[in-house]
Amino acid sequence: MLTSINPATGKEIATFELHSDEYVDAALTAANRAQRKWREVPITERVGLLTRMAIALRKGKSTYAEMITREMGKPIAESEAEIEKCAYNCDFYAEHATQYLADEPVISNATESVVAFDPLGVILAIMPWNYPFWQFFRFAAPAFAAGNGAILKHANNVPECALAVEDIMREAGCSDGLFRTLLIDASKVAGLIADDRIAAVTLTGSTEVGAIVAGQAGKALKKQVLELGGSDPFIVLADADLEQAAAVAVKARYINVGQSCVNAKRFIVEESVAERFVELFCEGVAKLKIGDPNERDTNIGPMARANLLAGLHAQVEKTIAAGAVARAGGKPIGGDGFFYPPTVLDHVSPDMVAFCEETFGPVAAITRVKDADEAIRLANQTEFGLGSALWSQDTEKAKRLARKIDAGAVFINGMVASDPRYPFGGIKRSGYGRELGVYGIREFVNVKTVWVG
Ligand code: NAP
Repeated sequence: MLTSINPATGKEIATFELHSDEYVDAALTAANRAQRKWREVPITERVGLLTRMAIALRKGKSTYAEMITREMGKPIAESEAEIEKCAYNCDFYAEHATQYLADEPVISNATESVVAFDPLGVILAIMPWNYPFWQFFRFAAPAFAAGNGAILKHANNVPECALAVEDIMREAGCSDGLFRTLLIDASKVAGLIADDRIAAVTLTGSTEVGAIVAGQAGKALKKQVLELGGSDPFIVLADADLEQAAAVAVKARYINVGQSCVNAKRFIVEESVAERFVELFCEGVAKLKIGDPNERDTNIGPMARANLLAGLHAQVEKTIAAGAVARAGGKPIGGDGFFYPPTVLDHVSPDMVAFCEETFGPVAAITRVKDADEAIRLANQTEFGLGSALWSQDTEKAKRLARKIDAGAVFINGMVASDPRYPFGGIKRSGYGRELGVYGIREFVNVKTVWVG
């Protein structure tokens, strides 16, 4: 049995029966059958499904946005933006997939030779709760366009969203069985990965679960894409536009109540401007409105689950005990919901918990450094390598420094955000493989050489 809990109130929303082993078995068989037919549909027709997915998403936008907010607590305006972004992603791949997967001629000694991109089969998608629609649709739109089928094992605290995704696919006219949501315990995932009817796996989630899934997929010799945790640096050099940097930094840390893999988490600031930056940052934080996530002007709603709040607070306490200074927040708000205030920890050194570990909630860690070289060194002093931001008004210098940062993305004078137009993903313990852009659609394909003598 799964229980959906409203994190703003701590009250139960609904319960859901888990799917039986028989249901799971039938879903895998149906997905295989449907995918074999789907791969024969020309891509120019397959992309029509994506267009209809976008239509269904936009039509149900307010219903789905309310569902996201009810189940995981994101402020309603951000939930609406999430649905809109899913629709945009579907439209984007509807427009570009045919070109991205067109045969590529190769000059060789053959009469004719090309690289073709064939589908892999049925992909198992294991997804997190933090963007319960976006994480799925950013994977699914290119995967379906490429001719694959999909089985979704969503996070078990968002079962309403998981089932709504199935409704959207049905409404869009997805052929029967090509996609299915499974409400199952995480312990059942190993069996799915080992099953011959699953061709490959994608996981967005924690580094710990990433290592487990990678091991299981490795044993079965199945392709994986892993989009895992991050502890993104946000570097502010002495020549940055401090007002702008601080304003963007507040958004970069606290969007999604701080529960995004690419939130800026470690603010690495040159000593000469650090005090002014922290003042501006704290002024921005003081303006954030905490409260009912259904209110349109709320910036900080509850965290998604009580255990995530407890874990985050333990990280804050350890960091303060080690000598960091809380300039804002630092203690749970209390009450029935899982509210944690936007927290600013200053004078965080690289040995402290808020620097070494990912903080998945509204907590900013500020570290002061003597110069740009030290900033880059500390930015890279992490097991993660997802996104990063670098602020300087000397763009040429910033571009040079960007190449020294070990991360899947560097945003100069901006904040990290995913976008269908360019690839998204990490290195080190943030995972491997890419989603989005042309690279994303080519993850779950058989890159096939066709040689004609
Ligand atoms: P998580 O435990 O990694 O969950 C992600 C997905 O993996 C869920 O569907 C989960 O299902 C499933 N899962 C859990 N244990 C599994 C196992 N042994 N085998 C296969 N699948 C398994 O993440 P979380 O607990 O929701 O969040 C905790 C941490 O994950 C965060 O603090 C953060 O570090 C990271 N995180 C990162 C992202 C990102 O976008 N990169 C997103 C969310 C979380 P159940 O719900 O049934 O456990």
